[in-house]
Amino acid sequence: MDTYTVNHETALKLDNSDPLKSYRKLFYIPKDTIYLDGNSLGLLSKPAEESLLKTISEWKNLGINGWFYGNPDWWHYGEYFGELMAPLVGAKAREVIATGTTTLNLHTLVSAFFQPSGERNKILADELNFPTDIYALESQIKLKGLSPDKHLVFVPSLDGRMLDEQQIIDYMNSDIALVLLPSVLYRSGQLLDIEKLTQAAHARGIPIGFDCSHSVGVVPHKLHEWEVDFAIWCSYKYLNSGPGGTAFLFIHEKHFDMEPGLSGWFGYVKSKQFDMLLNFEHEKHAGGWQISSSNILCSASLEGSLKMFHEVGIEKIREKSIKLTDYLIYLADEILVKKGFTIGTPRVPQHRSGHVALEHEKADKINQELMKRNVITDFRKPNIIRIAPIALYNTYNEVWQTIKIIEAIIDE
Ligand SMILES: *Cc1c(COP(=O)(O)O)cnc(C)c1O
Repeated sequence: MDTYTVNHETALKLDNSDPLKSYRKLFYIPKDTIYLDGNSLGLLSKPAEESLLKTISEWKNLGINGWFYGNPDWWHYGEYFGELMAPLVGAKAREVIATGTTTLNLHTLVSAFFQPSGERNKILADELNFPTDIYALESQIKLKGLSPDKHLVFVPSLDGRMLDEQQIIDYMNSDIALVLLPSVLYRSGQLLDIEKLTQAAHARGIPIGFDCSHSVGVVPHKLHEWEVDFAIWCSYKYLNSGPGGTAFLFIHEKHFDMEPGLSGWFGYVKSKQFDMLLNFEHEKHAGGWQISSSNILCSASLEGSLKMFHEVGIEKIREKSIKLTDYLIYLADEILVKKGFTIGTPRVPQHRSGHVALEHEKADKINQELMKRNVITDFRKPNIIRIAPIALYNTYNEVWQTIKIIEAIIDE
């Protein structure tokens, strides 16, 4: 981190030598705006727009025949995008499917993987997880006739920001039937060691799933090799599919025989789906976990978007993302810490994802002032401003400008 200096030229130099700089012009950046919220909703790119418009014209010109003659044909949409997605998360093609929504996918997976039996009848989660995951776990526990008060165990956080991996492992006791964790904590941006946690869970005979909404598209994964049992993630954050974009799920091939938790006709063995038989027979891969007809218009943008990720490669994206957040942390240390800010994100790059959490007692007010100046970040209660410089479309200059604007807001 000591390679930077506090001046504008450094930012311009970093931009000049940025190997990914040509991608920015492929994105629609809101006018006169510094957009640093791609961890909540990624921006539209021209390739994503083109593939979405292509699909709309298929609907226009083919009507129902789009299911068979669209390109790709709509009937295999989930599988097609699963295959495109798989290399970005280190999975085999058939282990990933584009389907449904994040929370819904969590429901179907947990309803199958949470099999309380005897003493082993609890789910282990953490107290910093995104609330929707906890709501889903609570309702899955209730559906099994159990009570969340007794059957949902939370690993506490020592400082309200981070989790300690060893402590998580210490909670994996003989009463735990399933572990569900986020890959990245949505407030602090801490990236957990998925491989280590998976090994520890398996050594204790516990299946483990991860919500990778805040790591996919910015951090490389090896879900297959790490033997993660299942994972879910959304596509509208770092993958830039647009609001309401179709989500993904991963299920390790060793579980392909497992009966999906919530069945539907799109999970039926594809070759027999239109036999319209009444006994459910699931496809023996991730496709079997689909429930309904694919969300064609909510998936179409992914074609253009994912192709960019393939062109650049997730390693290069990670490299630039780390450099952007390093630079942000450096400037915050030099300029903002003396103005009452604390950095709430791990400083070691391997332990964080794509955003930085700046903490300040007046974070809410500061974030509102940033909005007035067309700088889009987000505020998370009680005291966090999250800033996500995105590798494909943000610049070092924007990071510099943002820190200087925050400094000016405080000085006022
Ligand atoms: C964004 C996010 C979600 C979103 O859930 P939806 O069902 O897509 O609304 C879920 N979990 C985590 C950890 C997230 O960051």
